[in-house]
Amino acid sequence: MIVVGAGVFGAWTATHLRRMGKRVVLVDQMGPANARASSGGESRMARGTYGRDEIYTRMALASLEEWKRLSERSALPLFHRHGVLFCFQEMIDYARDSIAVHERLNLPLEQLDTAALRARWPQMNFDGISFGLFEPEFGGLMARRSVEELVARFVAGGGEYVVAHAAPGADGHTVELDGASRNAAAIVYACGPWLPKVFPEMLGDRIFVTRQEVAFIAPPDGDDSFEASHLPGWADFNGGDLYYGFPSLEGRGFKIARDTHGAVFDPDTGDRRISEDGAALLRTFADRRFPALAGRPFTEFRVCQYENSSNGDFLIDRHPTMEGAYLLGGGSGHGFKHGPEVGRMMAELVANGTAPDARFSLATKATVHHRTVL
Ligand SMILES: Cc1cc2nc3c(=O)[nH]c(=O)nc-3n(C[C@H](O)[C@H](O)[C@H](O)COP(=O)(O)OP(=O)(O)OC[C@H]3O[C@@H](n4cnc5c(N)ncnc54)[C@H](O)[C@@H]3O)c2cc1C
Repeated sequence: MIVVGAGVFGAWTATHLRRMGKRVVLVDQMGPANARASSGGESRMARGTYGRDEIYTRMALASLEEWKRLSERSALPLFHRHGVLFCFQEMIDYARDSIAVHERLNLPLEQLDTAALRARWPQMNFDGISFGLFEPEFGGLMARRSVEELVARFVAGGGEYVVAHAAPGADGHTVELDGASRNAAAIVYACGPWLPKVFPEMLGDRIFVTRQEVAFIAPPDGDDSFEASHLPGWADFNGGDLYYGFPSLEGRGFKIARDTHGAVFDPDTGDRRISEDGAALLRTFADRRFPALAGRPFTEFRVCQYENSSNGDFLIDRHPTMEGAYLLGGGSGHGFKHGPEVGRMMAELVANGTAPDARFSLATKATVHHRTVL
């Protein structure tokens, strides 16, 4: 079997197929979690809070067990359990539904009023926040390192890894690797933001690739209140214009990003320099919510891309006409944490024909970009 794409989705699919005893070749044009891949960032948040979309809470939970196992076996940590705090201006359905789902699944979720938030995280300014939801079991995944570790283990466990550009061949069982044909019983295309280029007619108007900007800020020298031991990962609904960020993991600095979908972006040619407007927005938000960061220098910027499906649901399906070919992607800015479960679902579809939930089907992917999964 061949898996094209060594991002988090492809790497976990290859891993699960190997666990099933299959011969697997994992192919990537640039390397596992490379600089242009969506999985190529420093860190990604793992959380179970998903409003009414319980399916993702369950997937995040199951995936977290895999991530923790991988982290325990890795020389350096892959998962930092610093917890995740959601801040709300007012009670909204998303919060109400998240509380109900966590109660149903018996998952810890602390509800804190403004006074409790202020007492617990004095480095944050909670003006305008009426309450918070805190998930203590979740936290940050060291994204690039995790995928590299996974691929190294895949190879150590007998998998084959090949660097090549792949293009679909004449049929679903053939793929062209740098122009040379290779056949396999199944070929999974886990090409992230490149999927619309690999299958332009089918996915060109169903996967919306958007530019997303990330910044790191140096906390005050000698101040440990921005370390993972003192600050959780956080997300602020901010009246619908959501910002999120991480404590300073491994000395990299406080990380902040805006979740609102940016402009259309080409993963090959897009300009990966931060925009002045984007940097200013991140600065303003950081200064307001984290007063001690005011005036502290930016230490790094990253421009990455989300590969959004119409509503934020993943794509895990067979190719509709090329028997033997499979489509995997649509991570939509929240896929990383789910890599283990997404990979398991794809591997079970390939190996046993077990179809995942209908919301992951190609048929549900519309051509109008209207996000509903948050
Ligand atoms: C800024 C940012 C913040 C995010 N934050 C979070 C978060 O906090 N939590 C979370 O869970 N998720 C988050 N995400 C989303 C998550 O990172 C993605 O959903 C996930 O990484 C997608 O993985 P993938 O394997 O589908 O794609 P990718 O990681 O892009 O992997 C695709 C791979 O396919 C290869 N490829 C493509 N075409 C070809 C070809 N023709 N031949 C050979 N190889 C090919 C590429 O080189 C690449 O390595 C974030 C994303 C971004 C951009």
